[in-house]
Amino acid sequence: MSTQPFDLVIRADRAVVDGAERPASVGVRRGRVAEIGPRDADWSAAAEVVLADDEVLIPGMVDTHVHVNEPGRTEWEGFASATRAALRGGTTTIVDMPLNSLPPTTTVDALEIKQKAADGQCFVDVGFWGGAVPGNVEDLLPLHDAGVFGFKCFLIDSGVPEFPPLSPKQLREHMRRTALIGALMIVHAESAAEIDAAPTVPGPRYADFVASRPDASEVSAIKVVIDTMRETGSRAHILHLSSAEALPLIRDAKREGLPLTVETCPHYLSFTAEAIRDGSTAHKCCPPIRSSENQTRLWKALADGTIDCVVSDHSPSTADLKTDDFQTAWGGVASVQVALAAVWTGARERGHGLADVVRWMSERSAQVAGLQHKGGIRVGADADLVAFAPDEVTHVTAAGLEHKNPVTAYDELDLTGVARRVWLRGNEISTERADGRFLERGEA
Ligand SMILES: [Zn+2]
Repeated sequence: MSTQPFDLVIRADRAVVDGAERPASVGVRRGRVAEIGPRDADWSAAAEVVLADDEVLIPGMVDTHVHVNEPGRTEWEGFASATRAALRGGTTTIVDMPLNSLPPTTTVDALEIKQKAADGQCFVDVGFWGGAVPGNVEDLLPLHDAGVFGFKCFLIDSGVPEFPPLSPKQLREHMRRTALIGALMIVHAESAAEIDAAPTVPGPRYADFVASRPDASEVSAIKVVIDTMRETGSRAHILHLSSAEALPLIRDAKREGLPLTVETCPHYLSFTAEAIRDGSTAHKCCPPIRSSENQTRLWKALADGTIDCVVSDHSPSTADLKTDDFQTAWGGVASVQVALAAVWTGARERGHGLADVVRWMSERSAQVAGLQHKGGIRVGADADLVAFAPDEVTHVTAAGLEHKNPVTAYDELDLTGVARRVWLRGNEISTERADGRFLERGEA
């Protein structure tokens, strides 16, 4: 029995702790999980919450792939709307991508400009990735020291002119530096040669769009990343894996002992090329959503750990940029709010438990980014907690979501699983007050 009262105790018949579901009480002190005990532990606390019979206590999701776009393209998305959406969906930490905002986060000055823009508008905790672009090798260490979680680069056109891709030679230079400073390089892995060689047919047909971004482009870029890891000794992470054709390469690299991690996204697990309606550019993203057979292989790779984590790649724009031409429409799926429910909906259909989803979307994503005090209900971690109703179904409408522009691939879908109450560092949070704070790499 504890001698000191807790600030908060949450009791649940079902809680995801240590990779499994069990009855538990979670005692919180000064924003951290101080103790985990039996459901009816004889503890005293300033406040006590007992979850309802149909709720499970899970850690908040850690979404390390969010494009907030502020400042500079704030009409696409902003910190207030993106983090409100995250909160409503059961995500308590986001890490913001360095591009689509202006300036892109490729220097410390740009990071400071972004943090100034975000200040006071974050409803969940927010970390930042830095950017690796041609010519900014010397900016990596200062950005690392300023607390970014690693560096994002592209091996192909990024979609915005101010964030150019790295050539294989430039990738090598940048990864020599990330190896030296111990930083993680995160890579948009599609290569241009295969895409340039593929047929480009403009228009609304989804099949034409998929054909224009072949599997081989992902495979070839991932091969470049793996070869460069071997050469430089740097850690690397593959962003938004779509093509299952790259899985053997990834398995081999991991077996070899290379420090490679891989994410996929809810849309690759939720939609299939066969079912996407022509003209539905809400589903456009790069790399593209592929066949149902491909999707089955992604789910298997998640289950066996070849894919480490699932994060949203929430990348919205204004509605007018989602024209019905797949070649010119903005590429990105707005999904930070629905990510957990979408993955849970698909996971339970395939026989996975909530503990699996927690591993993919909270524990492993936090580990990949190096967020040591996030990503699980464990003693010493931030008390970022969600009362999740795993059987409650919601009908999603784009206009009903919190993100700024009412466009999403999940419009008019029924998803299972609702985040009913959310606690951030031990305080229950709402979309009324911005209680989030900035996170820095290396905080324990
Ligand atoms: Zn992205």
